[in-house]
Amino acid sequence: MACSTDWADWKDVIQNSITRTLNSPRGFKYSKLREDKIESVINRSQDAFSGKWNVVYLRRIAFVYNDNILTQEEKDDAILSLTMLKDRDNLLYGKDVTYRCDICDRSGYMIVWCQHCVVDFLQDETTKWTSMDKHIDRQILLAQTRAPIPDAIPEWIPYELLRDVDYLTQGGYASVYTATYMRGLYARWRKTTRTLSRGLTHFKVVLKKLNWNHPENDFKNELEKHLYVSSVCDAIVRCYGVTRDPITKDYMLVLNRMKCDLREYIEQVHDKALQLEIFRGTRPILSDATPKAFTEIIRRCWDADPNKRPKAVGIANYFSKIKIKGGFVFQNATTEVGSEISTITSGISTTKLASLYDTGDSSGDSCAINFSIDI
Ligand SMILES: [Zn+2]
Repeated sequence: MACSTDWADWKDVIQNSITRTLNSPRGFKYSKLREDKIESVINRSQDAFSGKWNVVYLRRIAFVYNDNILTQEEKDDAILSLTMLKDRDNLLYGKDVTYRCDICDRSGYMIVWCQHCVVDFLQDETTKWTSMDKHIDRQILLAQTRAPIPDAIPEWIPYELLRDVDYLTQGGYASVYTATYMRGLYARWRKTTRTLSRGLTHFKVVLKKLNWNHPENDFKNELEKHLYVSSVCDAIVRCYGVTRDPITKDYMLVLNRMKCDLREYIEQVHDKALQLEIFRGTRPILSDATPKAFTEIIRRCWDADPNKRPKAVGIANYFSKIKIKGGFVFQNATTEVGSEISTITSGISTTKLASLYDTGDSSGDSCAINFSIDI
């Protein structure tokens, strides 16, 4: 059992850990646990194994289970985290191992939540909201059902739930505002009530309104890309949903407020010397957890020479051409960029990557310094 890679041997251990963690008053909060120790064991379990993802998952569970530093509660927490990662990977990319739901008796790709139960709930909820545009309603529902993972579900966000809307900046194609989102995001699925419950409320978000000539069509294209990228990779700017200014009637994307935005980074420090350093090439440090393929793009966008930055339309093409295989988004920066890019571009050789960035209309906007907002 200790080294088994058979799901049947681990099923009870995993499900008991998940139940204990989700039912604890602590919920998802790590405050009473040694978060650094949990993270360390999770990271070491990641380094220890390679191979087919579903076997690696059970080996990592065994690694945590056999650890002699963590308490049982901390192991439960680590097992829940690993299982949520595995669930997401299997739902979006793997789709080759299924688990039966003890509520609806249907087979799905996730252990922690049942995708069918969550989708049923979201479909029932559609009677309670509308963007007043059928296409946008469809796009939101499509994004919700593509990745029915509670903390990744985008929504229609009524404008009255956004407070303190403040103008932040304007680019060639978009106006950007900050706001406080009063309602919490979906956080977890409650089996007993078959509902999604919400997490923390009152947090800062970014609103992005397009200024293009045909705002409706462009907005719909942009919306589709944001919702798609956000649902398949939360390392990119997360899209919480869509709202509409009741006065101007403009639709706006509601986005995560990134901490590594370069313009904000400069504005916050107010340090001329540092601004000079940035001018000379100093950049924010990207987390090792950021997939190499994305750090590569981000660094190109931060190039001191604007002519060397990829075009926005090239980046859009890049994402639209990504064929995801084997859950590459969970490979971190230690992964060889060559192999990863050749995986994700599916047939587009790595030597062509630079030209891939430059494809499309050459009049497209150069990737602005605030990459995280403009993408
Ligand atoms: Zn179910």
